[in-house]
Amino acid sequence: MAVRVRIAPSPTGNLHIGTARTAVYNWLFARHCGGKFILRVEDTDKERSRPEYTENIKSGLAWLGLNWDEGPFFQTDRLDLYKKAIQELLDRGLAYPCYCTPQELEQMRQEQKANKLAPRYDNRHRNLSKEQIAEFEAEGRKPVIRFKIDDDRTIVWQDLVRGQVSWNGSDLGGDMVIARAAESSEDNLGQPLYNLAVVVDDIDMGITHVIRGEDHIANTAKQILLYEALGAKIPEFGHTPLILNETGQKLSKRDGVTSIDDFKQKGFLPEAMANYMILLGWTAPDSTQELFTLPEAAELFSIERVNKAGAKFDWAKLDWINSQYLHKMPANELVELLVPYWEEAGYKVDLEGDRPWLESLTALIAPSLTRLSDAPAESRLLLSESLEYSPDAIAQFQKEGVIEILQNINAALAENSALSEQDAKDIIKKVTKQAKVKKGLVMRSLRAGLMGEVQGPDLTQSWLLLNQKSLDKVRLQQTLDFLEKLPSE
Ligand code: GLU
Repeated sequence: MAVRVRIAPSPTGNLHIGTARTAVYNWLFARHCGGKFILRVEDTDKERSRPEYTENIKSGLAWLGLNWDEGPFFQTDRLDLYKKAIQELLDRGLAYPCYCTPQELEQMRQEQKANKLAPRYDNRHRNLSKEQIAEFEAEGRKPVIRFKIDDDRTIVWQDLVRGQVSWNGSDLGGDMVIARAAESSEDNLGQPLYNLAVVVDDIDMGITHVIRGEDHIANTAKQILLYEALGAKIPEFGHTPLILNETGQKLSKRDGVTSIDDFKQKGFLPEAMANYMILLGWTAPDSTQELFTLPEAAELFSIERVNKAGAKFDWAKLDWINSQYLHKMPANELVELLVPYWEEAGYKVDLEGDRPWLESLTALIAPSLTRLSDAPAESRLLLSESLEYSPDAIAQFQKEGVIEILQNINAALAENSALSEQDAKDIIKKVTKQAKVKKGLVMRSLRAGLMGEVQGPDLTQSWLLLNQKSLDKVRLQQTLDFLEKLPSE
């Protein structure tokens, strides 16, 4: 049997981390089995669906490397198919019009609440007589369509993740609405609802395995009844655990990040995000292996190794994975990803005109990056136009002999316009010898003099970068001028 799976997002928001993780597992499963991965946009909710969300979902999946083989299909293009199925269910007496008003339903709920019963539709319009129907129609009521759910049924399936799941028909809330009331008199049926549309699509698209979040378990029970009613083969179902925040709650807007865009903005690489999502609920056969590309994980993937328990979102792990990918990336690629972060921080960088220098800067700071967004802070000392001195730098200047050391370096610099690494090392050596001090003192002083800080990226490389912009002399002179004015201890 050729495997066909799908991701079926609703375009009512940007690509959500939960949807993206479900997409990852579907993609891995499809690729592992040599099957097809289909994108279906569930846009029947007209009020909340937006084309820009569809675009965001598509670009987010593409960014992560989750290419789809078929689609995107849009449910709004397929309404006739759903209406046909609804009509078939009506004709066969498996569905019926329900004329209850919102007020009547609300009153029913209140009564159930007062009697400490779970809220449900009590199936009161299941067996309306022709006369009752005519009466409601005459009142101008527009019916919804409900699908009959047998309270005595137990729905059982072998879940690919959770093992056997069984659900009582009586716990499904009564006969379920499969189509809203018609909006205009030209329509004989209103907007089809989620469970019906999903089943019609999954049948029509030949979906063999439905892999989705466990928040859909009750829907699965309802959908199995619809498959039966429509006489279709029931696919396999696998329900993946929810993504939880650090306190064990479902990850939500309150956690600050929910969409893939949020993570992108925070400076995570797509490879790292995909890798992290692979691990978020799945364990490789070799449980110590944590770094994989999507194709590598696809080789190893099996749905049985998806965990049942909720997956806790672990920022430290995501950061670690991101840094692994960042550190491996060649500077000529990484530099292009850093430019937007520098620009956003207000640094004027000209990638076209200044590429070699920016690549060297990238290579210098890359080992200290965890996220792309760390770049402005990590390169501040080299990109900033002004030089400010930290208290530690000032303390360094006040050590004995430091001013002289800086004067000597400055003097040595006059002889060299373009420094090589060897020149820089020679100057440090010479000045250390002259001052008869430890090399460390010279290095710390030079760093404070050039950068205004006593810590930062590799000093020689930083110095060379400043030198290439003729900034080393300027900065050292500026520091010496500053020190002249600094009251001595
Ligand atoms: N549109 C549903 C959602 O976004 C799809 C659920 C499913 O995969 O059936 O949650």
